[in-house]
Parts: sequence; C-alpha cells; structure tokens
Amino acid sequence: MSSQVNSTKRIVAYFSMEIALENAMPSYSGGLGVLAGDTIRAAADLRLPMVAVSLLYRRGYFTQRLAEDGSQTEEPVEWRVEDFLQEEPARASVSIEDRRVDLRCWRYTVKGVRGFEVPVYFLDADLPSNAVSDRNLTGTLYGGDSYYRLCQEVVLGIGGVRILRALGYNDLTRYHMNEGHAALLSLELLAEEAREAGRASIRGEDIEKVRGKCVFTTHTPVPAGHDRFPMEYLTRVFPKQTEFLDLKDASAADFMKRVLQAEQTYPGIQEAARGGATLNLTQLALSLSTYVNGVAKVHGETSRQMFPHVPIEAITNGVHAGTWTSPAFQQLFDRYIPSWREDNYSLRGALGLPAEDVWSAHLIAKHELFEEVRKKTGLNFDGEVFTIGFARRATGYKRADLILADLDRLRQIAKNAGAFQIIYAGKAHPNDGGGKDIIRHIFQAKKALRKAVPIVFLDDYNLDLGGKITSGVDLWLNTPQFPLEASGTSGMKAALNGVPSLSILDGWWVEGHIEGVTGWSIGESRRVASVGVATDNAAEAESLYSKLEGVILPLYYAERSRFLGIMQHSIAINGSFFNTQRMVQQYITDAYLH
Ligand SMILES: *Cc1c(COP(=O)(O)O)cnc(C)c1O
Repeated sequence: MSSQVNSTKRIVAYFSMEIALENAMPSYSGGLGVLAGDTIRAAADLRLPMVAVSLLYRRGYFTQRLAEDGSQTEEPVEWRVEDFLQEEPARASVSIEDRRVDLRCWRYTVKGVRGFEVPVYFLDADLPSNAVSDRNLTGTLYGGDSYYRLCQEVVLGIGGVRILRALGYNDLTRYHMNEGHAALLSLELLAEEAREAGRASIRGEDIEKVRGKCVFTTHTPVPAGHDRFPMEYLTRVFPKQTEFLDLKDASAADFMKRVLQAEQTYPGIQEAARGGATLNLTQLALSLSTYVNGVAKVHGETSRQMFPHVPIEAITNGVHAGTWTSPAFQQLFDRYIPSWREDNYSLRGALGLPAEDVWSAHLIAKHELFEEVRKKTGLNFDGEVFTIGFARRATGYKRADLILADLDRLRQIAKNAGAFQIIYAGKAHPNDGGGKDIIRHIFQAKKALRKAVPIVFLDDYNLDLGGKITSGVDLWLNTPQFPLEASGTSGMKAALNGVPSLSILDGWWVEGHIEGVTGWSIGESRRVASVGVATDNAAEAESLYSKLEGVILPLYYAERSRFLGIMQHSIAINGSFFNTQRMVQQYITDAYLH
C-alpha cells in the first residue's frame, strides 16, 4: 500500500476521460469532466468507497484567446503537475503496437464534508523508458487524430485497471464507465477472468461475470460523442496476438468480434457487429454492462430509441451543491439551513429564507461577476440592469445565438419592457468550425447592438468563471436543439443560487421546469423526437422574445417580490434535487448495490 487512502477497501472504480477538480488543473474540457468532478465530491460527502481513474494531460485542453472579431485561437495550458498531484510508486504497462508503454499515476485526494477521502488517479505515460510518441499519449485532451484517441483509451481502460491492481485495489465490485471512452476497461476485466480460470481464451461465462461488474453512463445523443474506430486500428495497436491482453489465441479484432457477437450480447449489437468493420465503443460498453443509464429522463428515452434492444435507465445529472453555491449564498444557507452541505434535500427550506437576505446575497454574486467583467474587458456593467447569462461549449446544436436572431426585436424589447444585457462565455472545440462561427456571430451582434443591448463575451470559460456567471446573472438562458441536450448542468448551478432558467424543454429542464414557479420554457414540451428532426428556429426565437418581453422583464422591474419568489422556488425545488448528492444516491441504489 503506497498511501493511507489506498488502504481503505474500495468497491466502486469510476473511470472518466476527463475530471474537473480545480480551476488551474487542465484535466477537463467541459460538462462531462465537471460532472465527473462533482460526482466524486458527492461520493466523498456520502462516504462512498470509490476510487477514480483518468488521464493526465500535461498540455491540458487549451486556453482560449479571442481576437477583436471573435476569432478563437488556442494555446496550450501551462501547469506544474507536482503543484497539484502526488506521484505514486505503483507502475503498470500496456502494449501499444510493438512497444511496451510504462505507466505511472499521480494522486489527487478529494475530501468530503465529513472528512472521508476519495482518491483520483491520473495515468501518466511520460516516462523516460517510453518512446517519445508514447510519452505524448498523456499530452492533450481531445487533441490529435482518432488513432491517438484510441491509444489514449487503451491507456485509460486497460492501463487503468492494471494500475488499480498495482495500487492494491482488489475488492472492487463495480467499474463505472463515464461515457464510452473508458469502455476498453471491460476487455482487461475479461482477460482477468480468463487468466484466473487458467484459460488463454474468453468464454461466455467470462462475459457474464464482467457484465455483472460494469456500469455505463451514456452522455449524449450527438453521433460525434460516440467513439467509433475502424476495426483495423485495433490490429494496428495490437499487431501480435500474444500482445493483446496476454491471451494467446485471438487477434484483437477477432476477440472484439467474439465479444460483440456472443450469445450474451444484445441482438441489435450482435447484428451491428456482424458487419465488423467498425469498433463502436458505445456498443461495447452497452454489451458489457449490468446497468446502463442516460443522464435525464428524456435522454433515457432518446437513448432507448437509439439502441432499441438494450435496457437503458435514466439517472438525471446534478451538480455539487457546496461547490457551485456562491460564497454569499453559502453564508446565507449556513445561517438558516445549517445542514445543507451534508443534506442537500434540506435546501427545500429556502422557501422560508427572508426575501431581503436572498436579494442581498444575489446582489453580492452579481457584483462579483461584474468585477470579473471589468477585469476581463474593461467594461462597467450596470448592476441595476436585468442580466441574462449564457455559458457553455460553443457548438451548433446549443444555438448560443438563437436570442440574436432578430436584433431589431431585441432593441424594441429593451425599449418597451426594460433594459437588459447579456453575458456570454464558452470555448469551441479547435476543430469545430461551426462553433467558432457562432462566437464570431455573437461579436458581430454585440457591435451592431452597442448600447441598446450591451453584450459581453468573456474568454476562457472555466470552473471559476462558470461559478461566477451562473450565480451572478438574473436569468439563465438555454437554447439547445431538442433532443440533443441530454442533460445540461449549468442551469442547475444557477438554480442553487436562486437564478431561474428560461430554456427549451430538453434535458433536465423537462423535469425542473414549472412555468412561472422555477422559471420559464421556450416553446412547448415535445414527445421524444428522433435525433436529426428539424427544429423551427424562428418559432423558438419568437417564443423566447415574447416570454422575455411579456413576462420576465415586467416581473423583474415591476414585481420584484414575485421575482424573488421564483428565485426562492429555484433553490427549494431545483437546488434541493438537481445535485450530485441525490444523483450518487441513485447510482448507489440502482447501479452499485443492485
Ligand atoms: C457547468 C459547466 C459546464 C457544463 O455546463 P452545461 O450546461 O452542461 O453545458 C461546462 N463547462 C464549465 C466550465 C462548467 O462550469
């Protein structure tokens, strides 16, 4: 045992390509990583014996720079691993092409509210014994080509299981794959079963056993979010039969086909695998998991449509309440609802908070955000003015510019119903040209609207900025194209801070929305649509405008006490529920102990 934390018996291993733990640690790109970090924090709070595994990214995701016209450029992140993480003496290795790739890991310890610790291990291939190209495998997150990604996933999945063994974790009963990136862990578990039985090949009974240990959470209906590789990549990574998982009789591709076409696998997946040219990691994870879930109820339905033969449940995402509540609201809750950190459900009591204290806490959060705006842009935003927030990854389906569809209409609304301003943030993936266009479009609209509707775009969206924006605005806007949102979590952060949402009825908002009580909808609620069905952008923009003009701005400026009532209901109804404490409790009862 290399450290105190390792010596505790652990039952759940949580695998994620990205985990967001600290602002200055570039170990995440966005929502998936933020959710992973919040999950681990809640596990520590609940004293759940969990251990987490991810990859170390020495160059991180990227730092975002924006030119005058909104053009994005990316710079590597500078950070010193030793400042944040503790190196472990344990070593493991995987085989890639003809080479042995040695791995070490670095530990970060997450401490819960009662002092319970959950270790997070970051795998690192940057060792002198490795070839230069292999040392770079733990270099950038979502960088490089698709083959590089597969090699990273070999390190995460296969290397991850091996490093856990080297660290002495032998009591694990569940392996949770947070998205398909980690699916290759199931292959190492299969090989372990075969080796233990003294066999050099896998059998159906191994598949049954491994399936009993794996849990899979799928996070998006967007096709690009599901890893697929040409099957020949597997042969490239594992050219020699004997190098693949130490099983003697199978090439990697044959092995994979045998798993996917096994009697134990779901009929639809068997069929898909018969073609055999593509390695689909979502299908692998679906086949080898005892419990599969989507991340909101609607997303569960969409996922069942995508994979009709597989039983898919839903556990709606949450956020870590202690992390995403602004300092001013933390003080307020500590004073009136002292148990809220250990027991997030008690935030129901927010209905009893003195309204004037809620308003003062909100004004402090708003002031903090406007300070950040001033620091980043030199602009002085007016604290009296109604402020709309929109921050998330810039990509087509999230439609950050839907509210900018008709600038004349916006000018008119500001004149008739009351002034408002918009604060934006968000990175586009370096290869997402459409996402980069959206940022430029926002900059154009900002220029055109000038003082009529002040707009600011804050660069380099990260955890700190996320906290400030979600807590410091008066309204959280979300305009995804149904049904692609899956869950969304930033609106949950807003809710904890008494900030209501105006959103398309997709993802978590289908469950969190009560019209005029916790916020407002854009458009109508829909039945689950198949992915790819066209949306009426103009009609949705019109719905957004009419709610803003006819309902929300009048309420904010003329009926402040009713607006405050909505703020309190956001905390009491949504903050008390859409948190990772409730979410992890559901994973425990439905997936980990089941
Ligand atoms: C919360 C958060 C996200 C995820 O927000 P969504 O609403 O799910 O898109 C992404 N990035 C950062 C920095 C965040 O804080």
